[in-house]
Amino acid sequence: MKFDLHTHHDRCGHAESGIRDYIEAALGAGMNVIGISDHSPYFESTEDHPNPRTAMAKSEFPRYIAEVLRLKEEYKDRIEVLLGLETDYFPEHMELHRKVYSQYPFDYIIGSVHWSGGIKIFDRKRWKGLTPEQITEHKDQYLDLIRQSAECGMFDVIGHMDALKANYPSLSQVPSKVLDEVLKVIAERRIAIEVNTSGKTKECGGWYPADDILERALYYGVGITFGSDAHRPDRVGDEWEQVRLRLKEIGFKEWVFFRRRQKQIVTL
Ligand SMILES: [Zn+2]
Ligand SMILES: [Zn+2]
Repeated sequence: MKFDLHTHHDRCGHAESGIRDYIEAALGAGMNVIGISDHSPYFESTEDHPNPRTAMAKSEFPRYIAEVLRLKEEYKDRIEVLLGLETDYFPEHMELHRKVYSQYPFDYIIGSVHWSGGIKIFDRKRWKGLTPEQITEHKDQYLDLIRQSAECGMFDVIGHMDALKANYPSLSQVPSKVLDEVLKVIAERRIAIEVNTSGKTKECGGWYPADDILERALYYGVGITFGSDAHRPDRVGDEWEQVRLRLKEIGFKEWVFFRRRQKQIVTL
């Protein structure tokens, strides 16, 4: 049972090709389940399309849902297409988003922290001139936002859990005072973290999260899912088999995906 819950397409303004191309790529990669999870609009904005290179327009949202549902039906005998979404976690705007999302039949929603301390996580400048103590603070502030995103009850999947390291690879070696607490909360809330193979497209290389976090996630009983975070069709299912084998080596027995917000367990 091969699945990939994290894919984008051209609506977000920084991914290539349309939804159908990602479904076809999934078929070509021998997948059984493909989740479409483009970047949620900024519903809190007064503008229709405040960040055209980051996320789809508000007015595009109903068309996005309708297109995924149409393709779900069209492809149902060949592959299961899931209606998903990736949402930026901004604590102050989540109630508004929750209301909007509740009108649609989502299979799952990925919550991702892309901003921490008012700075984009991938911004290289955020690391300039920091003391070791400040670096630890940045890391723990980011992880604490992930904890809050798990507690807000809106998400099925935590996106790219240690992506703050993307352009600052040595962050993985910085100890965290809050990581274990965050993993405990995620496990209690029965949320999954994804192994996201898009780290290879950034300076840090490899996957999110790093193996030591996966080992601790296993210890706390956190569920695991798979996400390529494909922004081009040829990355759908990228390194799926390597991830499956690594998870087995670490000691996981199963992983999960979501259908109509219900966890589906798949043997590794
Ligand atoms: Zn993106
Ligand atoms: Zn993301």
